[in-house]
Amino acid sequence: MENAYKNFLNSLAAVKTLTNLDDNIYNQLLEPKTVLEVNVPEWEGTLVQGVQVAFNDARGPFKGGIRFHPEVSYDEVRALSAWMALKTAVVNIPLGGGKGGVIVDPKELSPRELEGLSRGYIQAIHKLVGPTVDVPAPDVQTNPQIMGWMLDEYEKLAGQHLPGVITGKPLSIGGSQVRAYSTAQGGLFVLDEAVKKLGLSKQATVAIQGFGNAGYNMAAILQKAGYKIIAVSDSKGTAVNVMGLDVAELYKHKQLTGSVANYVGAEEVGGKHCFEQEADILIPAALENSIHKNNAREIKAKLIVELANGPITPEADEILTEMGVLVVPDILANAGGVVVSYFEQVQNAYGYYWSEADVLQKLEAVMRTAFDEIWDKKAEHQTDMRTAAYILAVERIAQSMRDRGMA
Ligand code: NAD
Repeated sequence: MENAYKNFLNSLAAVKTLTNLDDNIYNQLLEPKTVLEVNVPEWEGTLVQGVQVAFNDARGPFKGGIRFHPEVSYDEVRALSAWMALKTAVVNIPLGGGKGGVIVDPKELSPRELEGLSRGYIQAIHKLVGPTVDVPAPDVQTNPQIMGWMLDEYEKLAGQHLPGVITGKPLSIGGSQVRAYSTAQGGLFVLDEAVKKLGLSKQATVAIQGFGNAGYNMAAILQKAGYKIIAVSDSKGTAVNVMGLDVAELYKHKQLTGSVANYVGAEEVGGKHCFEQEADILIPAALENSIHKNNAREIKAKLIVELANGPITPEADEILTEMGVLVVPDILANAGGVVVSYFEQVQNAYGYYWSEADVLQKLEAVMRTAFDEIWDKKAEHQTDMRTAAYILAVERIAQSMRDRGMA
């Protein structure tokens, strides 16, 4: 992901000017607190490279997912770790920000190799993680099973049960209700608030880029809430139906064929991407920098909810603002995942588990409150939602740093 960290630094510099942030705090936010590069020995002596970045823990333990992807880079993981610190601050949970990345394509590994790598990665980073230190979770191409292997390995090394060391675990070993679809569910609560602000109908049409954990769950939740999903894309193709796609059937098709492409319930689209569809709402839920200066003007939607991290480049952001599109920024829109991760940690600490309804109610309160607080900041500074969210987050982190005497 080119320039991701530079984008973060530019946003931070803008916030510094807008909020008169003191130099001392600003300088400490320019780089992560700790970076650990690891080489995990794997099958036939191969070394798999990874990096674990701990960005800022002024508000609480570092928190962020571990990504398995062939294009992982330090720059990307560093940016994702910074965004995590902002995200936990925006939703006001007592955690900091971190992230891990492993340069590997898990689709090319056997289940045994994947388990070996997951255990090997935790062995490599275990001295820097812990329930009160740094708490990993799933991200792109990692899942509850991988978290289960990582937990087991960590607990063997620690010689005790410490389920709060990692979140996004299977329910049987200390996972939380709702965690499996929490990112999308949190996205729905803030989308609902944005729909009210724009006066859109609850039957509005939606296009979604990405049909993995975040994108699929969002499609299913939105359809259940009455929205019409007219386009879904993945890395291999796009399925479009202006009458509305059947999300459950599309999911079955993807399970069988590996892609949403060639789904019989879709119309032909002549290679058009889901961004170009006449949808009221667009949800990027794939990878970074998907919306850039060359495709931003094609977008017809009035509302974009960033379920992916960093899906819009700064140039595209400016174009969309000019076009009058409301963008609900990633650090709010996809924070549902980390909020329920935090709930998972709380339940692990107590050894007492909540019902699905309890978790949903608590998640809804956190997400709607954060939306309102950002909306107020937006009005106060006469700015866009992303800048407002950054201001709110940096102010909160800065306050914790000052209270600790770090500035
Ligand atoms: P995933 O691996 O489960 O799914 C990614 C999806 O994106 C896949 O369907 C893939 O085919 C698709 N994709 C990849 N390249 C594409 C392209 N060029 N065009 C269209 N589709 C493409 O990953 P995920 O967990 O759903 O994460 C997606 C995004 O959401 C990431 O930015 C991630 O950081 C963010 N996110 C996820 C969570 C979570 O809980 N899963 C939480 C916060 C943020």
